[in-house]
Amino acid sequence: MSDGEGLVIVYTGNGKGKTTAALGLSLRAIGYEHKVCMLQFIKGSWHYGEMDSSKKLGPNFELIAVGKGFVGILDDNSPREEHEKYAAEALKICREKIFSEKYDVVILDEVNYAINLGLLDVKEIIKLIKEKPEKLDLVLTGNHAKEEIIELADLVTEMKEIKHPFKSGIKAKKGIDF
Ligand code: ATP
Ligand code: MG
Repeated sequence: MSDGEGLVIVYTGNGKGKTTAALGLSLRAIGYEHKVCMLQFIKGSWHYGEMDSSKKLGPNFELIAVGKGFVGILDDNSPREEHEKYAAEALKICREKIFSEKYDVVILDEVNYAINLGLLDVKEIIKLIKEKPEKLDLVLTGNHAKEEIIELADLVTEMKEIKHPFKSGIKAKKGIDF
């Protein structure tokens, strides 16, 4: 178990490193045999390296993809209701994991995007933050974190883009970006 009160940690901002920071924190926690669950609100059909990391890191790291490729929500073919249905299911899984008492750290990766798209109600997330088990460290990522969430958080870091290779035409790199 982690020592002391659990923290609410937010990684936001337009620079790269939000999910990477959450993964780095996981690696550190797993070193102490802490149990980590990362719930990834999926933004598309991409495959990310961390999806396979749990097989290598052992049972202390669990990664679950939730939601439904919402990045294309505005122009994809599935009706909005379908996205909403998946988001509601995702929230249910988040609740289950958070209140299971099985984990020391729970990460809601890209949750801020799902909120900003209106797929998740910020009030539901606020409720989760307020009711979470005391010792649990809860991490939320995604740009444009809502003010209400920032207010409740203990730690907020804004990644700020200074340079990103994408702007020089360099494509996303395996092992770095995905
Ligand atoms: P990462 O997963 O690499 O830590 P992130 O979580 O900070 O990135 P997201 O908003 O989740 O950023 O976007 C994920 C993808 O977009 C990654 O492939 C990442 O490299 C890329 N990305 C992040 N920030 C930028 C940026 N400022 N310009 C272009 N691409 C970006
Ligand atoms: Mg991310």
